[in-house]
Amino acid sequence: MANGSSKKNNTLWFILLGALLATVLGTFWPEAAVKTGFLGDLFLNALKMMVLPLIASSIIVGVTNLGDMKSLGSLGFKAILYYTLTTGIAVILGLVVVNLMQPGVGAEGLTGELPEHFEKTKSFSFMDTLLGMIHPNLIQAAAEFKILPIIVASIVFGIAIVSLKERGKVISDFMVAFNEVVMKIVLWIMVAAPVGIFGLIAYRLGITGGGGAVVDLILQLGKYSACVVTGLLVHGVIVLPFLLFFLGRRNPFTYFFHLAKALVTACATASSSATLPVTMECVEREAKVTNRTASVVLPLGATVNMDGTALYEAVAALFIAQTYGISLGFGEQITVVLTATLASIGAAGIPEAGLVTMILVLQSVGLPLEGIGMILAVDWILDRFRTTVNVWGDAVGSAIIDHSEGRS
Ligand code: ASP
Repeated sequence: MANGSSKKNNTLWFILLGALLATVLGTFWPEAAVKTGFLGDLFLNALKMMVLPLIASSIIVGVTNLGDMKSLGSLGFKAILYYTLTTGIAVILGLVVVNLMQPGVGAEGLTGELPEHFEKTKSFSFMDTLLGMIHPNLIQAAAEFKILPIIVASIVFGIAIVSLKERGKVISDFMVAFNEVVMKIVLWIMVAAPVGIFGLIAYRLGITGGGGAVVDLILQLGKYSACVVTGLLVHGVIVLPFLLFFLGRRNPFTYFFHLAKALVTACATASSSATLPVTMECVEREAKVTNRTASVVLPLGATVNMDGTALYEAVAALFIAQTYGISLGFGEQITVVLTATLASIGAAGIPEAGLVTMILVLQSVGLPLEGIGMILAVDWILDRFRTTVNVWGDAVGSAIIDHSEGRS
């Protein structure tokens, strides 16, 4: 046991060392850093390869473990309550910070254009998310990495197994073993995490042109970036740990330490979905949240619960309004609360998805979509911070819900 945990901690230190070396290489030798990109790609592809089998098997096992519709309903209800509450707090926090710091005032000269690849999505609405929950072709959905229809189908599949009682046992036993196989492979992939994370960070810094170029980028939109980061810090370091302590009865420092590998992976990949295998590993094996809770709450959370994204959407929309000299009244800010929440639910757990769904927020209060062009340059950096908070929010939620179910 002692050996096992020291091994786990060693991986974490190696991951942190990898991140540090990557930052040094990417900052001072960007050309060399770009050449290490294939290491990051290999790691990222390996993680992504496991995401769909993991989601399908975890949810099916989770639902069959719950055993009846009442338990599933209670868990689902608590999850939705937690998601809504924390996302709402995040958006309101974003609005408070942006109203206090006023990053767009004095930046009125900024202009932007709607990037070409956004033209297609110009009409993103929440209806799209709703309709996207059921896909006529699951193989195609999987091939396009559309996770929501896979989640819905897995829940239905799990319920069907439960309803078959004894007859369904053979398939539920199979899914349990399948899920263990998937988690085993995830453990093997994690051995390569230090090198993979090294490659991801070094390459990203390298293609931006080194540390100096990254600092220049941040300074260009310094006040706006500071606003997003301040909001995310307050949410991640104060609000969520507070909820974890009072509602989940856990020590936030220990829990943070258990989750550290997942949080670094989220920061390096900018994708909650790609990080999901690592999040599940940390939450279940290290933080000892029961599989019954984590296997349902985490996959769902990675797709629909994005506190960081919601907060960022609110800050970005208000920043854009300020740069155009448009002042949004109380009613319009309430609209931003609602649409930023919906936009974060609609955003996929992939890099910069939040930027696309922001169309919904901007349209709802009549702001020009071209504003997105202004914040595009720094988005990849802010995406890393908000993805880390998204994953942290999911992990905290699973501990709170597990505690409320009387399991930990
Ligand atoms: N990259 C984020 C995530 O995967 C989504 C976003 O763009 O905000 O959680």
